[in-house]
Amino acid sequence: MKFVDEFRDEALAKGLAAAIAREANPARRYSIMEFCGGHTHAIFRYGVQDLMPENVGFVHGPGCPVCVLPIGRIDNALELAEEHGVILCSYGDMLRVPASKRRSLLKAKAEGADVRMVYSVDDALRIARDNPGREVLFFAIGFETTTPPTAVALRIARAEGLKNFSVFCNHVLTPAALNHLLTAAAVDVDAFIGPSHVSSVIGSRPYEYFTETFRRPVVIAGFEPLDVMQAALMAIRQLNAGHAEVENQYIRVVTREGNLKARAIVDEVFERRESFEWRGLGAVPDSALTIREAYAAFDAEKRFSIVTRSAPDAKSCECAEILRGAKKPVDCKLFGKGCTPDSPVGSCMVSSEGACAAYWTYGRFRREAA
Ligand code: SF4
Repeated sequence: MKFVDEFRDEALAKGLAAAIAREANPARRYSIMEFCGGHTHAIFRYGVQDLMPENVGFVHGPGCPVCVLPIGRIDNALELAEEHGVILCSYGDMLRVPASKRRSLLKAKAEGADVRMVYSVDDALRIARDNPGREVLFFAIGFETTTPPTAVALRIARAEGLKNFSVFCNHVLTPAALNHLLTAAAVDVDAFIGPSHVSSVIGSRPYEYFTETFRRPVVIAGFEPLDVMQAALMAIRQLNAGHAEVENQYIRVVTREGNLKARAIVDEVFERRESFEWRGLGAVPDSALTIREAYAAFDAEKRFSIVTRSAPDAKSCECAEILRGAKKPVDCKLFGKGCTPDSPVGSCMVSSEGACAAYWTYGRFRREAA
């Protein structure tokens, strides 16, 4: 299969592993944070960590859109589904994340709320057209990758004059989270592997601020195992040379400027929020989007007067520390005991991009075997 096998080639992987072993200085440690949950899963699925020398370690970051949404916002969605009688549409993983009192949208659905899993915001628009007598709400989440489709849907809804469609906007911004990690959270990492899909939209330019200000290399990488290994080698070479630059391993998709058309549509529909709460990071300034006044008629927060209250994570859940890169999933005493993908306690075990789900699915026996 062209364009996939090449990025999983065993001989090339061995060559990259040998190069990393040769070039990683045994007198120092290399701590590399992969911001994005997609990279975390690639690392575990393909055993990339096992191909690294002892002194090269991956730290998992907050780049899972389902994981970072705080419980208060999920409580809001539950209220909308249960008390306002809307048809609430969202992506599958989001429906399973435990909210306060371990309720979830899926449990609400089982109890009679009209909650529907959709594959895209287009599905939600179609449901709105098919149900003119019902309020249809799209519970929008995600980083810069999923934001443009939501913006397009809002433009379509306005053009069609849809009266029963609204968006509960929870789109968040990668550079703000990175800034927070390096300032308020003060993460102890030497370099970052930059997200691939996000960067295809925003480009590589926004990371230049971080390399210049915080002197940490950022290497944007694709999601295949050889992408991640090559990015690790590029980061190690920069660190050895004392450089801190933005490098683009994912040149087959990412440019410096990103997708200008998508960025323009997002700018037309959304503006920045002053502050937004992230699970694990707390309130982060300028880190999320809200719907502009021109589209206020489709803003669920206005239509339903939504007020978000902070709600604590489940007792003993270490998702917050994991999302900050301060702990690993196996450090949580609930991991694999009270918390599994079938019965998750925290968001990191739910999402297909969550770090706990990656450990459970691909690496949970590593520590036991050690
Ligand atoms: S194992 Fe479960 S409870 Fe523990 S940090 Fe992961 S998701 Fe949270």
